[in-house]
Amino acid sequence: MATDLAERISDWVIQRALRPFAVAGFFVLVAFLWTLYFQHIIAYPFPFLFLGAVMGSAWFGGIFSGFIAATLSTVLVDYFLVPPLYSLAIKSSSESFLAAFILCAITMILLVSARRRSETAIREARDQLDARVQERTAELRQSNLELEESARRLRMLTDAIPQQMWSADAQGNLNYCNQYLVDSLGAPLAGQFAEAFDAVLHPADEAFFHQALESSLIAEAPFEIEARLRLADGSYRWFLLRAIPQHSVDGRLLRWFGIHVDIEQQHRERQGLIEAHDELSRSSRTLSMGEMAASIAHELNQPLTAVVTHAYACREWLSATPANLEKASATAERIVQESTRAGAVVARVRALFRSNAAIRQPTDINRLVLDFVHLLRDDVARRNMTIRLLLADDLPDAELDAIQIQQVLLNLAGNAMDAMEGGAGPRELTIRTQRQAPGHICVSVEDQGPGLAPETSARLFEPFFTTKRSGMGMGLALCRSIIESHDGRIWAAPSQSGGAAFHFTLPVPA
Ligand code: ADP
Repeated sequence: MATDLAERISDWVIQRALRPFAVAGFFVLVAFLWTLYFQHIIAYPFPFLFLGAVMGSAWFGGIFSGFIAATLSTVLVDYFLVPPLYSLAIKSSSESFLAAFILCAITMILLVSARRRSETAIREARDQLDARVQERTAELRQSNLELEESARRLRMLTDAIPQQMWSADAQGNLNYCNQYLVDSLGAPLAGQFAEAFDAVLHPADEAFFHQALESSLIAEAPFEIEARLRLADGSYRWFLLRAIPQHSVDGRLLRWFGIHVDIEQQHRERQGLIEAHDELSRSSRTLSMGEMAASIAHELNQPLTAVVTHAYACREWLSATPANLEKASATAERIVQESTRAGAVVARVRALFRSNAAIRQPTDINRLVLDFVHLLRDDVARRNMTIRLLLADDLPDAELDAIQIQQVLLNLAGNAMDAMEGGAGPRELTIRTQRQAPGHICVSVEDQGPGLAPETSARLFEPFFTTKRSGMGMGLALCRSIIESHDGRIWAAPSQSGGAAFHFTLPVPA
Protein backbone atom coordinates (compact mmCIF):
# COMPACT_ATOMS: atom_id res chain seq x y z
CA MET A 1 0.00 0.00 0.00
CA ALA A 2 2.78 2.37 1.11
CA THR A 3 4.96 1.32 -1.80
CA ASP A 4 2.01 1.86 -4.08
CA LEU A 5 1.58 5.37 -2.77
CA ALA A 6 5.33 6.03 -3.04
CA GLU A 7 5.31 4.74 -6.60
CA ARG A 8 2.35 6.92 -7.47
CA ILE A 9 3.98 9.98 -5.89
CA SER A 10 7.24 9.34 -7.71
CA ASP A 11 5.29 8.83 -10.98
CA TRP A 12 3.47 12.08 -10.38
CA VAL A 13 6.71 13.93 -9.65
CA ILE A 14 8.35 12.51 -12.79
CA GLN A 15 5.34 13.22 -15.04
CA ARG A 16 4.21 16.56 -13.62
CA ALA A 17 7.46 18.19 -12.41
CA LEU A 18 10.64 16.64 -13.71
CA ARG A 19 9.47 15.86 -17.21
CA PRO A 20 8.20 19.43 -18.00
CA PHE A 21 11.46 20.87 -16.65
CA ALA A 22 13.57 18.40 -18.55
CA VAL A 23 11.67 18.98 -21.84
CA ALA A 24 11.74 22.77 -21.42
CA GLY A 25 15.41 22.72 -20.40
CA PHE A 26 16.34 20.57 -23.37
CA PHE A 27 14.55 22.74 -25.95
CA VAL A 28 15.75 26.04 -24.46
CA LEU A 29 19.32 24.69 -24.29
CA VAL A 30 19.19 23.65 -27.95
CA ALA A 31 17.75 27.09 -28.90
CA PHE A 32 20.40 28.83 -26.81
CA LEU A 33 23.31 26.91 -28.35
CA TRP A 34 22.02 27.48 -31.89
CA THR A 35 21.52 31.18 -31.07
CA LEU A 36 25.11 31.47 -29.84
CA TYR A 37 26.31 29.77 -32.99
CA PHE A 38 24.21 31.98 -35.32
CA GLN A 39 25.25 35.14 -33.48
CA HIS A 40 28.74 34.76 -34.96
CA ILE A 41 27.29 34.55 -38.44
CA ILE A 42 24.43 37.07 -38.28
CA ALA A 43 25.00 40.08 -36.05
CA TYR A 44 21.31 40.48 -35.31
CA PRO A 45 19.64 39.25 -32.09
CA PHE A 46 17.98 35.93 -32.84
CA PRO A 47 15.01 35.35 -30.43
CA PHE A 48 12.93 33.19 -32.79
CA LEU A 49 14.75 29.98 -31.95
CA PHE A 50 13.58 30.53 -28.36
CA LEU A 51 10.02 30.87 -29.61
CA GLY A 52 10.60 27.53 -31.32
CA ALA A 53 11.83 26.09 -28.03
CA VAL A 54 8.66 27.37 -26.31
CA MET A 55 6.53 25.74 -29.01
CA GLY A 56 8.45 22.44 -28.79
CA SER A 57 8.21 22.39 -25.00
CA ALA A 58 4.47 23.17 -25.03
CA TRP A 59 3.90 20.42 -27.65
CA PHE A 60 6.01 17.66 -26.12
CA GLY A 61 5.94 18.63 -22.44
CA GLY A 62 2.53 20.26 -22.08
CA ILE A 63 1.41 23.73 -21.09
CA PHE A 64 3.47 23.76 -17.87
CA SER A 65 6.62 22.85 -19.75
CA GLY A 66 5.78 25.62 -22.27
CA PHE A 67 5.61 28.20 -19.51
CA ILE A 68 8.92 26.97 -18.01
CA ALA A 69 10.50 27.26 -21.48
CA ALA A 70 8.97 30.75 -21.91
CA THR A 71 10.37 31.88 -18.54
CA LEU A 72 13.85 30.45 -19.26
CA SER A 73 13.81 31.89 -22.78
CA THR A 74 12.75 35.35 -21.54
CA VAL A 75 15.62 35.35 -19.06
CA LEU A 76 18.14 34.21 -21.69
CA VAL A 77 16.83 36.59 -24.36
CA ASP A 78 16.94 39.44 -21.85
CA TYR A 79 20.43 38.49 -20.73
CA PHE A 80 22.04 37.76 -24.10
CA LEU A 81 20.02 39.53 -26.71
CA VAL A 82 18.35 42.60 -25.19
CA PRO A 83 20.57 45.60 -24.54
CA PRO A 84 22.30 46.12 -22.27
CA LEU A 85 23.78 42.72 -23.21
CA TYR A 86 24.91 40.26 -20.54
CA SER A 87 22.67 41.89 -17.98
CA LEU A 88 19.12 41.26 -16.80
CA ALA A 89 18.44 44.99 -16.89
CA ILE A 90 16.24 46.16 -19.75
CA LYS A 91 16.68 49.35 -21.65
CA SER A 92 13.44 51.27 -21.94
CA SER A 93 13.75 51.16 -25.74
CA SER A 94 13.86 47.31 -25.62
CA GLU A 95 10.97 46.85 -23.21
CA SER A 96 8.43 46.70 -26.02
CA PHE A 97 10.61 44.11 -27.83
CA LEU A 98 10.75 41.88 -24.75
CA ALA A 99 7.05 42.41 -24.06
CA ALA A 100 6.29 41.38 -27.66
CA PHE A 101 8.49 38.31 -27.20
CA ILE A 102 6.67 37.31 -24.00
CA LEU A 103 3.27 37.90 -25.62
CA CYS A 104 4.30 35.82 -28.61
CA ALA A 105 5.56 33.05 -26.36
CA ILE A 106 2.32 33.00 -24.32
CA THR A 107 0.16 33.02 -27.49
CA MET A 108 2.17 30.15 -28.89
CA ILE A 109 1.91 28.17 -25.68
CA LEU A 110 -1.87 28.64 -25.69
CA LEU A 111 -2.22 27.82 -29.41
CA VAL A 112 0.09 24.84 -29.28
CA SER A 113 -1.53 23.42 -26.15
CA ALA A 114 -5.01 23.91 -27.66
CA ARG A 115 -3.86 22.15 -30.82
CA ARG A 116 -2.20 19.47 -28.77
CA ARG A 117 -5.37 18.95 -26.74
CA SER A 118 -7.54 18.62 -29.81
CA GLU A 119 -5.02 16.23 -31.42
CA THR A 120 -5.02 14.14 -28.28
CA ALA A 121 -8.82 14.16 -28.21
CA ILE A 122 -8.94 13.09 -31.89
CA ARG A 123 -6.37 10.36 -31.27
CA GLU A 124 -8.29 9.12 -28.24
CA ALA A 125 -11.56 9.13 -30.19
CA ARG A 126 -9.88 7.24 -33.02
CA ASP A 127 -8.39 4.75 -30.60
CA GLN A 128 -11.79 4.27 -29.01
CA LEU A 129 -13.35 3.79 -32.45
CA ASP A 130 -10.66 1.28 -33.37
CA ALA A 131 -11.27 -0.59 -30.16
CA ARG A 132 -15.05 -0.59 -30.74
CA VAL A 133 -14.63 -1.78 -34.33
CA GLN A 134 -12.37 -4.56 -33.17
CA GLU A 135 -14.84 -5.48 -30.46
CA ARG A 136 -17.76 -5.55 -32.96
CA THR A 137 -15.69 -7.54 -35.46
CA ALA A 138 -14.90 -10.08 -32.77
CA GLU A 139 -18.58 -10.24 -31.78
CA LEU A 140 -19.59 -10.66 -35.41
CA ARG A 141 -17.01 -13.37 -35.94
CA GLN A 142 -18.27 -15.12 -32.83
CA SER A 143 -21.92 -14.94 -33.88
CA ASN A 144 -20.95 -16.17 -37.37
CA LEU A 145 -19.21 -19.11 -35.78
CA GLU A 146 -22.26 -19.80 -33.64
CA LEU A 147 -24.54 -19.56 -36.69
CA GLU A 148 -22.33 -21.93 -38.66
CA GLU A 149 -22.29 -24.31 -35.73
CA SER A 150 -26.07 -24.25 -35.36
CA ALA A 151 -26.51 -24.73 -39.14
CA ARG A 152 -24.11 -27.66 -38.95
CA ARG A 153 -26.03 -29.15 -36.03
CA LEU A 154 -29.34 -28.68 -37.88
CA ARG A 155 -27.89 -30.31 -40.97
CA MET A 156 -26.65 -33.27 -38.91
CA LEU A 157 -30.11 -33.55 -37.38
CA THR A 158 -31.93 -33.46 -40.74
CA ASP A 159 -29.42 -35.93 -42.16
CA ALA A 160 -30.15 -38.28 -39.27
CA ILE A 161 -33.96 -38.16 -39.84
CA PRO A 162 -35.01 -41.19 -41.89
CA GLN A 163 -37.27 -39.17 -44.21
CA GLN A 164 -36.48 -37.23 -47.36
CA MET A 165 -36.23 -33.49 -46.73
CA TRP A 166 -35.39 -30.47 -48.85
CA SER A 167 -35.59 -26.71 -48.89
CA ALA A 168 -35.94 -24.18 -51.71
CA ASP A 169 -35.79 -20.40 -52.00
CA ALA A 170 -38.82 -18.17 -52.59
CA GLN A 171 -38.50 -18.65 -56.38
CA GLY A 172 -38.69 -22.43 -55.96
CA ASN A 173 -35.00 -23.17 -56.58
CA LEU A 174 -33.98 -26.18 -54.53
CA ASN A 175 -30.96 -25.41 -52.36
CA TYR A 176 -30.74 -28.24 -49.86
CA CYS A 177 -31.50 -31.98 -49.75
CA ASN A 178 -30.78 -34.10 -46.71
CA GLN A 179 -28.50 -37.12 -46.93
CA TYR A 180 -31.40 -39.56 -46.64
CA LEU A 181 -33.01 -38.06 -49.76
CA VAL A 182 -29.73 -38.25 -51.70
CA ASP A 183 -29.25 -41.89 -50.64
CA SER A 184 -32.87 -42.86 -51.42
CA LEU A 185 -33.20 -41.18 -54.81
CA GLY A 186 -29.58 -41.69 -55.82
CA ALA A 187 -28.97 -37.95 -56.39
CA PRO A 188 -30.07 -34.66 -54.86
CA LEU A 189 -33.03 -32.81 -56.34
CA ALA A 190 -31.67 -29.72 -58.08
CA GLY A 191 -33.01 -26.72 -59.97
CA GLN A 192 -36.63 -25.62 -60.03
CA PHE A 193 -39.29 -27.61 -58.12
CA ALA A 194 -41.26 -28.68 -61.15
CA GLU A 195 -38.36 -29.88 -63.31
CA ALA A 196 -36.58 -31.51 -60.39
CA PHE A 197 -39.64 -33.58 -59.50
CA ASP A 198 -40.38 -34.53 -63.12
CA ALA A 199 -37.13 -36.49 -63.08
CA VAL A 200 -38.27 -38.76 -60.21
CA LEU A 201 -42.08 -38.77 -60.35
CA HIS A 202 -44.02 -41.70 -61.73
CA PRO A 203 -45.36 -40.53 -65.14
CA ALA A 204 -48.93 -41.30 -64.03
CA ASP A 205 -48.62 -38.93 -61.05
CA GLU A 206 -47.10 -35.97 -62.90
CA ALA A 207 -50.43 -34.35 -63.84
CA PHE A 208 -51.73 -34.45 -60.24
CA PHE A 209 -48.45 -33.22 -58.87
CA HIS A 210 -48.35 -30.21 -61.18
CA GLN A 211 -51.97 -29.41 -60.56
CA ALA A 212 -51.47 -29.43 -56.76
CA LEU A 213 -48.13 -27.61 -57.01
CA GLU A 214 -49.49 -24.89 -59.24
CA SER A 215 -52.38 -23.99 -56.95
CA SER A 216 -50.07 -24.14 -53.93
CA LEU A 217 -47.49 -21.83 -55.58
CA ILE A 218 -50.17 -19.32 -56.55
CA ALA A 219 -51.67 -19.25 -53.05
CA GLU A 220 -48.25 -19.60 -51.36
CA ALA A 221 -49.97 -22.22 -49.22
CA PRO A 222 -48.85 -25.67 -47.98
CA PHE A 223 -49.32 -28.52 -50.38
CA GLU A 224 -49.73 -32.22 -49.84
CA ILE A 225 -50.09 -35.02 -52.36
CA GLU A 226 -49.56 -38.76 -52.50
CA ALA A 227 -47.33 -39.78 -55.39
CA ARG A 228 -44.81 -42.39 -56.44
CA LEU A 229 -41.11 -41.48 -56.60
CA ARG A 230 -38.41 -43.44 -58.40
CA LEU A 231 -35.75 -44.71 -56.02
CA ALA A 232 -32.04 -45.15 -56.73
CA ASP A 233 -32.62 -48.81 -57.74
CA GLY A 234 -35.26 -47.79 -60.33
CA SER A 235 -38.28 -49.05 -58.33
CA TYR A 236 -41.19 -46.77 -57.41
CA ARG A 237 -42.56 -46.24 -53.90
CA TRP A 238 -45.52 -44.25 -52.62
CA PHE A 239 -44.69 -41.10 -50.66
CA LEU A 240 -46.70 -38.38 -49.01
CA LEU A 241 -45.08 -35.25 -50.51
CA ARG A 242 -45.58 -32.24 -48.30
CA ALA A 243 -44.26 -28.67 -48.82
CA ILE A 244 -44.66 -25.78 -46.41
CA PRO A 245 -43.91 -22.11 -47.26
CA GLN A 246 -42.18 -19.87 -44.71
CA HIS A 247 -43.22 -16.21 -44.63
CA SER A 248 -41.55 -13.18 -43.03
CA VAL A 249 -43.34 -11.10 -40.38
CA ASP A 250 -44.53 -8.71 -43.11
CA GLY A 251 -45.97 -11.64 -45.10
CA ARG A 252 -43.20 -11.97 -47.71
CA LEU A 253 -42.49 -15.52 -48.96
CA LEU A 254 -38.99 -16.50 -47.76
CA ARG A 255 -38.51 -20.15 -48.60
CA TRP A 256 -40.11 -23.57 -48.92
CA PHE A 257 -39.49 -26.66 -46.80
CA GLY A 258 -40.39 -30.12 -48.03
CA ILE A 259 -40.63 -33.59 -46.57
CA HIS A 260 -41.48 -36.93 -48.22
CA VAL A 261 -42.93 -39.55 -45.90
CA ASP A 262 -42.72 -43.14 -47.12
CA ILE A 263 -46.31 -44.51 -47.12
CA GLU A 264 -45.75 -47.56 -49.32
CA GLN A 265 -46.84 -49.95 -46.57
CA GLN A 266 -49.96 -47.96 -45.63
CA HIS A 267 -50.77 -47.63 -49.31
CA ARG A 268 -50.62 -51.38 -49.85
CA GLU A 269 -52.76 -52.00 -46.79
CA ARG A 270 -55.28 -49.41 -47.95
CA GLN A 271 -55.41 -50.95 -51.43
CA GLY A 272 -56.06 -54.36 -49.85
CA LEU A 273 -58.89 -52.85 -47.81
CA ILE A 274 -60.39 -51.10 -50.85
CA GLU A 275 -60.31 -54.35 -52.86
CA ALA A 276 -61.96 -56.24 -50.01
CA HIS A 277 -64.55 -53.49 -49.69
CA ASP A 278 -65.21 -53.52 -53.47
CA GLU A 279 -65.65 -57.27 -53.42
CA LEU A 280 -68.00 -57.02 -50.46
CA SER A 281 -70.13 -54.29 -51.96
CA ARG A 282 -70.26 -56.12 -55.31
CA SER A 283 -71.55 -59.30 -53.69
CA SER A 284 -73.94 -57.40 -51.43
CA ARG A 285 -75.21 -55.52 -54.48
CA THR A 286 -75.78 -58.80 -56.32
CA LEU A 287 -77.49 -60.18 -53.24
CA SER A 288 -79.79 -57.22 -52.76
CA MET A 289 -80.55 -57.05 -56.50
CA GLY A 290 -81.47 -60.76 -56.32
CA GLU A 291 -83.66 -60.19 -53.28
CA MET A 292 -85.33 -57.22 -54.84
CA ALA A 293 -85.92 -59.06 -58.13
CA ALA A 294 -87.45 -61.96 -56.17
CA SER A 295 -89.79 -59.71 -54.24
CA ILE A 296 -90.84 -57.76 -57.37
CA ALA A 297 -91.44 -61.07 -59.16
CA HIS A 298 -93.51 -62.23 -56.21
CA GLU A 299 -95.53 -59.00 -56.17
CA LEU A 300 -96.17 -59.20 -59.91
CA ASN A 301 -96.76 -62.91 -60.00
CA GLN A 302 -100.09 -62.75 -58.15
CA PRO A 303 -101.87 -60.23 -60.41
CA LEU A 304 -100.35 -61.74 -63.56
CA THR A 305 -101.45 -65.30 -62.60
CA ALA A 306 -104.90 -63.88 -61.86
CA VAL A 307 -104.96 -62.10 -65.24
CA VAL A 308 -104.07 -65.34 -67.06
CA THR A 309 -106.72 -67.35 -65.12
CA HIS A 310 -109.35 -64.71 -65.78
CA ALA A 311 -108.39 -64.52 -69.44
CA TYR A 312 -108.88 -68.33 -69.79
CA ALA A 313 -112.25 -68.02 -68.03
CA CYS A 314 -113.26 -65.15 -70.25
CA ARG A 315 -112.42 -67.18 -73.34
CA GLU A 316 -114.51 -70.08 -71.98
CA TRP A 317 -117.54 -67.80 -71.38
CA LEU A 318 -117.23 -66.35 -74.84
CA SER A 319 -116.76 -69.71 -76.60
CA ALA A 320 -119.87 -71.23 -74.88
CA THR A 321 -123.11 -71.48 -76.98
CA PRO A 322 -124.70 -69.24 -76.45
CA ALA A 323 -121.89 -67.01 -75.23
CA ASN A 324 -122.34 -65.86 -71.64
CA LEU A 325 -121.66 -62.21 -72.23
CA GLU A 326 -122.57 -61.12 -68.73
CA LYS A 327 -120.02 -63.43 -67.11
CA ALA A 328 -117.44 -62.69 -69.82
CA SER A 329 -117.84 -58.97 -69.13
CA ALA A 330 -117.46 -59.50 -65.31
CA THR A 331 -114.33 -61.59 -65.90
CA ALA A 332 -112.89 -58.93 -68.25
CA GLU A 333 -113.54 -56.39 -65.49
CA ARG A 334 -111.44 -58.53 -63.10
CA ILE A 335 -108.68 -58.73 -65.73
CA VAL A 336 -108.65 -54.92 -65.82
CA GLN A 337 -108.45 -54.77 -61.99
CA GLU A 338 -105.57 -57.26 -61.79
CA SER A 339 -103.69 -55.51 -64.61
CA THR A 340 -104.10 -52.19 -62.77
CA ARG A 341 -102.67 -53.87 -59.62
CA ALA A 342 -99.64 -55.08 -61.61
CA GLY A 343 -99.22 -51.60 -63.07
CA ALA A 344 -99.29 -50.14 -59.54
CA VAL A 345 -96.50 -52.56 -58.49
CA VAL A 346 -94.37 -51.37 -61.43
CA ALA A 347 -95.15 -47.72 -60.63
CA ARG A 348 -94.12 -48.30 -56.96
CA VAL A 349 -90.81 -49.82 -58.05
CA ARG A 350 -90.12 -46.87 -60.36
CA ALA A 351 -91.05 -44.41 -57.62
CA LEU A 352 -88.58 -46.18 -55.31
CA PHE A 353 -85.71 -45.56 -57.74
CA ARG A 354 -86.72 -41.96 -58.28
CA SER A 355 -86.87 -41.19 -54.58
CA ASN A 356 -83.50 -39.34 -54.68
CA ALA A 357 -84.38 -36.19 -56.56
CA ALA A 358 -81.56 -35.12 -58.85
CA ILE A 359 -79.80 -31.87 -57.97
CA ARG A 360 -78.80 -30.02 -61.13
CA GLN A 361 -76.33 -27.18 -60.99
CA PRO A 362 -74.17 -25.36 -63.56
CA THR A 363 -70.94 -27.39 -63.45
CA ASP A 364 -67.51 -27.09 -65.03
CA ILE A 365 -67.23 -30.47 -66.73
CA ASN A 366 -63.39 -30.39 -66.75
CA ARG A 367 -63.33 -29.79 -62.98
CA LEU A 368 -65.77 -32.68 -62.54
CA VAL A 369 -63.52 -34.96 -64.65
CA LEU A 370 -60.42 -33.92 -62.65
CA ASP A 371 -62.16 -34.60 -59.33
CA PHE A 372 -63.33 -37.94 -60.65
CA VAL A 373 -59.84 -38.87 -61.86
CA HIS A 374 -58.49 -38.02 -58.44
CA LEU A 375 -60.85 -40.60 -56.95
CA LEU A 376 -59.93 -43.18 -59.59
CA ARG A 377 -56.18 -42.69 -59.31
CA ASP A 378 -55.50 -45.41 -56.74
CA ASP A 379 -57.52 -47.97 -58.68
CA VAL A 380 -55.70 -47.13 -61.91
CA ALA A 381 -52.32 -47.36 -60.18
CA ARG A 382 -53.24 -50.66 -58.55
CA ARG A 383 -54.14 -52.14 -61.93
CA ASN A 384 -50.87 -50.83 -63.37
CA MET A 385 -52.61 -48.59 -65.89
CA THR A 386 -52.29 -44.90 -66.74
CA ILE A 387 -54.77 -42.12 -67.41
CA ARG A 388 -54.46 -39.56 -70.20
CA LEU A 389 -56.56 -36.41 -69.95
CA LEU A 390 -57.43 -34.41 -73.06
CA LEU A 391 -59.59 -31.58 -71.75
CA ALA A 392 -60.77 -28.81 -74.07
CA ASP A 393 -60.31 -25.24 -72.86
CA ASP A 394 -63.13 -22.77 -72.33
CA LEU A 395 -66.01 -25.22 -72.16
CA PRO A 396 -69.23 -23.61 -70.92
CA ASP A 397 -70.77 -24.91 -67.67
CA ALA A 398 -73.36 -27.64 -68.10
CA GLU A 399 -76.52 -27.93 -66.00
CA LEU A 400 -76.12 -31.39 -64.44
CA ASP A 401 -76.24 -33.59 -61.38
CA ALA A 402 -72.54 -34.03 -60.60
CA ILE A 403 -73.03 -37.25 -58.60
CA GLN A 404 -74.96 -38.91 -61.41
CA ILE A 405 -72.46 -37.88 -64.11
CA GLN A 406 -69.61 -39.15 -61.93
CA GLN A 407 -71.55 -42.41 -61.64
CA VAL A 408 -71.64 -42.58 -65.47
CA LEU A 409 -67.88 -41.89 -65.65
CA LEU A 410 -67.27 -44.52 -62.98
CA ASN A 411 -69.19 -47.19 -64.93
CA LEU A 412 -67.50 -46.33 -68.24
CA ALA A 413 -64.00 -46.14 -66.74
CA GLY A 414 -64.62 -49.35 -64.75
CA ASN A 415 -65.67 -51.20 -67.94
CA ALA A 416 -62.66 -49.74 -69.81
CA MET A 417 -60.24 -50.94 -67.13
CA ASP A 418 -61.95 -54.36 -67.00
CA ALA A 419 -61.49 -54.60 -70.78
CA MET A 420 -57.75 -53.79 -70.57
CA GLU A 421 -57.18 -56.02 -67.54
CA GLY A 422 -55.96 -59.17 -69.30
CA GLY A 423 -54.17 -57.49 -72.24
CA ALA A 424 -50.40 -57.46 -72.62
CA GLY A 425 -50.19 -54.21 -74.63
CA PRO A 426 -50.29 -50.63 -73.39
CA ARG A 427 -52.97 -49.92 -70.81
CA GLU A 428 -53.94 -46.30 -71.17
CA LEU A 429 -57.35 -44.93 -70.30
CA THR A 430 -58.14 -41.68 -72.11
CA ILE A 431 -60.78 -39.23 -70.94
CA ARG A 432 -61.55 -36.47 -73.39
CA THR A 433 -63.84 -33.45 -73.23
CA GLN A 434 -64.72 -31.36 -76.29
CA ARG A 435 -67.33 -28.98 -77.56
CA GLN A 436 -69.90 -30.43 -79.95
CA ALA A 437 -71.82 -28.00 -82.05
CA PRO A 438 -74.47 -26.89 -81.62
CA GLY A 439 -75.03 -26.47 -77.86
CA HIS A 440 -73.52 -29.75 -76.66
CA ILE A 441 -70.34 -30.90 -75.01
CA CYS A 442 -69.09 -34.42 -75.53
CA VAL A 443 -67.23 -36.55 -72.98
CA SER A 444 -65.41 -39.67 -74.19
CA VAL A 445 -63.88 -42.59 -72.32
CA GLU A 446 -61.51 -44.62 -74.50
CA ASP A 447 -59.53 -47.75 -73.74
CA GLN A 448 -56.89 -49.95 -75.36
CA GLY A 449 -58.76 -53.21 -74.71
CA PRO A 450 -59.92 -55.78 -77.30
CA GLY A 451 -62.79 -53.52 -78.49
CA LEU A 452 -66.46 -54.39 -78.97
CA ALA A 453 -67.53 -57.64 -80.63
CA PRO A 454 -70.32 -57.10 -83.25
CA GLU A 455 -72.75 -59.36 -81.33
CA THR A 456 -72.08 -57.38 -78.13
CA SER A 457 -72.34 -53.90 -79.68
CA ALA A 458 -76.06 -54.21 -80.44
CA ARG A 459 -77.00 -55.24 -76.89
CA LEU A 460 -74.61 -53.08 -74.83
CA PHE A 461 -77.27 -50.84 -73.29
CA GLU A 462 -79.83 -53.60 -72.62
CA PRO A 463 -80.53 -54.15 -68.93
CA PHE A 464 -78.97 -57.38 -67.55
CA PHE A 465 -76.77 -57.86 -70.63
CA THR A 466 -73.28 -58.83 -69.50
CA THR A 467 -70.36 -60.92 -70.74
CA LYS A 468 -68.56 -60.83 -67.37
CA ARG A 469 -68.61 -63.71 -64.94
CA SER A 470 -69.64 -61.55 -62.00
CA GLY A 471 -71.29 -58.74 -64.03
CA MET A 472 -74.86 -57.61 -63.56
CA GLY A 473 -75.32 -55.92 -66.90
CA MET A 474 -76.93 -52.87 -65.33
CA GLY A 475 -74.03 -50.36 -65.66
CA LEU A 476 -74.56 -49.17 -69.23
CA ALA A 477 -78.37 -49.29 -68.89
CA LEU A 478 -78.06 -47.01 -65.88
CA CYS A 479 -75.65 -44.72 -67.80
CA ARG A 480 -78.14 -44.39 -70.63
CA SER A 481 -81.00 -43.60 -68.29
CA ILE A 482 -78.91 -40.90 -66.51
CA ILE A 483 -77.65 -39.31 -69.74
CA GLU A 484 -81.11 -39.32 -71.36
CA SER A 485 -82.61 -37.77 -68.22
CA HIS A 486 -80.04 -34.96 -68.80
CA ASP A 487 -81.30 -34.58 -72.41
CA GLY A 488 -78.05 -36.05 -73.70
CA ARG A 489 -77.11 -39.08 -75.78
CA ILE A 490 -74.71 -41.99 -75.18
CA TRP A 491 -73.21 -44.38 -77.74
CA ALA A 492 -70.24 -46.67 -78.27
CA ALA A 493 -67.79 -46.83 -81.16
CA PRO A 494 -64.37 -48.34 -81.85
CA SER A 495 -61.59 -46.14 -80.50
CA GLN A 496 -58.63 -44.97 -82.61
CA SER A 497 -56.27 -47.11 -80.55
CA GLY A 498 -58.23 -50.27 -81.39
CA GLY A 499 -60.17 -50.55 -78.15
CA ALA A 500 -63.66 -49.28 -77.32
CA ALA A 501 -64.76 -45.66 -76.98
CA PHE A 502 -67.90 -44.56 -75.15
CA HIS A 503 -69.16 -41.03 -75.84
CA PHE A 504 -71.92 -39.07 -74.18
CA THR A 505 -73.20 -35.58 -74.81
CA LEU A 506 -74.68 -33.01 -72.43
CA PRO A 507 -76.54 -29.87 -73.45
CA VAL A 508 -74.91 -26.49 -72.72
CA PRO A 509 -75.96 -22.92 -73.50
CA ALA A 510 -75.15 -22.43 -77.22
P1 ADP B 1 -71.31 -55.18 -66.57
O1 ADP B 1 -70.13 -54.31 -66.48
O2 ADP B 1 -71.86 -55.56 -65.27
O3 ADP B 1 -71.14 -56.35 -67.49
P2 ADP B 1 -72.36 -53.10 -68.24
O4 ADP B 1 -73.75 -52.74 -68.60
O5 ADP B 1 -71.54 -52.03 -67.66
O6 ADP B 1 -72.47 -54.32 -67.24
O7 ADP B 1 -71.61 -53.66 -69.50
C1 ADP B 1 -72.30 -54.56 -70.36
C2 ADP B 1 -71.30 -55.27 -71.25
O8 ADP B 1 -70.78 -54.40 -72.26
C3 ADP B 1 -70.10 -55.81 -70.57
O9 ADP B 1 -70.33 -57.07 -69.96
C4 ADP B 1 -69.10 -55.93 -71.71
O10 ADP B 1 -69.28 -57.14 -72.42
C5 ADP B 1 -69.50 -54.80 -72.64
N1 ADP B 1 -68.60 -53.67 -72.49
C6 ADP B 1 -68.83 -52.56 -71.78
N2 ADP B 1 -67.79 -51.72 -71.87
C7 ADP B 1 -66.86 -52.31 -72.64
C8 ADP B 1 -65.54 -51.96 -73.11
N3 ADP B 1 -64.96 -50.79 -72.78
N4 ADP B 1 -64.87 -52.83 -73.90
C9 ADP B 1 -65.44 -54.00 -74.24
N5 ADP B 1 -66.68 -54.39 -73.84
C10 ADP B 1 -67.38 -53.57 -73.06
